[in-house]
Amino acid sequence: MKTFNVPVIYRSPLISAIKNQRKQQDRMKKDFTPTALDFGPLKILLARHFGFCYGVENAIEIAFKTVDENPDKRIFLLSEMIHNPHVNNDLLDRGVQFIMDTAGHQLVPWETLHHDDIVIIPAFGTTLETENKLASLGIEPLKYNTTCPFVERVWNKAEQIGKKNYTVIVHGKPKHEETRATFSHSQASTPTVVVKDIREAALLADFITGKKKGDEFYTLFQGQYSPGFNVATDLQRVGVVNQTTMLATETQAIADYIRQVMIDTYDLSETTTGERFADTRDTLCYATNDNQTAVTGMLLEPADLAIVVGGYNSSNTSHLVELCEEKLPTYFISSAEHMVSANAINHWDFHHKTELQSDSFLPKKEQVTILLTSGASCPDALVEGVIRRLLSFYQLEHKADELIIIEE
Ligand code: SF4
Repeated sequence: MKTFNVPVIYRSPLISAIKNQRKQQDRMKKDFTPTALDFGPLKILLARHFGFCYGVENAIEIAFKTVDENPDKRIFLLSEMIHNPHVNNDLLDRGVQFIMDTAGHQLVPWETLHHDDIVIIPAFGTTLETENKLASLGIEPLKYNTTCPFVERVWNKAEQIGKKNYTVIVHGKPKHEETRATFSHSQASTPTVVVKDIREAALLADFITGKKKGDEFYTLFQGQYSPGFNVATDLQRVGVVNQTTMLATETQAIADYIRQVMIDTYDLSETTTGERFADTRDTLCYATNDNQTAVTGMLLEPADLAIVVGGYNSSNTSHLVELCEEKLPTYFISSAEHMVSANAINHWDFHHKTELQSDSFLPKKEQVTILLTSGASCPDALVEGVIRRLLSFYQLEHKADELIIIEE
């Protein structure tokens, strides 16, 4: 895979060494067991895959290069480039301004932009409406485009099935930048509706089967369907695509469920299912799949707790947390500083969007085993920081540089 020029402050020699060693041992990426770092009283099981993905590195490279090459220009990002506060703050420090917040609220009025300003499109992509807005201001919308190719692949898939007269069901968070962009691109070719989870998929199924009718749809799915959506006719042929960072198992469950609803409603056979349900497998991106599978592999190991590092508004990171917390106490932190001491950790509860403080998060026992991973927008340097801070609680800081990697 292509390598990118990412600022060295985001890299970690320690993590790079571990990742390179694992890559050499497992070129086909078939081994999802974690890397065991045994420090005696502390054992860290590091997920097989974590950290910056292709799309994030691509976006960071383009954004920093643009800043370096255009010292005399005003540079804007449509919104947060990726969901990591450290990277976004570094760009703000270098004079970049965000036009919108992550919910789409305007921070910089459009009318203050000039045709010679630079506007960078973030890794999530953007809506066609925003592209048109930029063009109307004389700004070439796709000149500084960091949209991830794996997001564009979803748009292409939606367009393909849309052209075959399937309605697109997007599994995603309705307010997330990527889902808004996918919704916009999809609705340009076909009726489109967003479902955020299996519960909303079941609600939608009631309109497919006729159990629920008419106006209720427009209330239940307010803000989640394309203009002119006709609930009576637009749910007769459907396909499911998703926000690339959703929980893989949930997207699969939704696609399987809607497929079965179509089979039952229209009395379809294996050979006729395609008439009503478009096969859209594989719209999750490779990084989401790898990182979630690596967490599943990590969770097979006995451990006392899990630490997940990433931005608190990062969708892919929250799903890693979701997987871990099903099995053991899990702490979602954005950097090592949140581990205040061996007794206190400030961590994010993404369900209730609030910070919690927990005491005695490190159990008192002969050897504490911690599962450790991070989201696709989290610099490896932050994960190294977490390892070093954990080691400091055991007066073992020096061990970070002489890591013992136990091969499985
Ligand atoms: S998580 Fe996947 S889709 Fe999102 S930027 Fe990374 S590679 Fe691209």
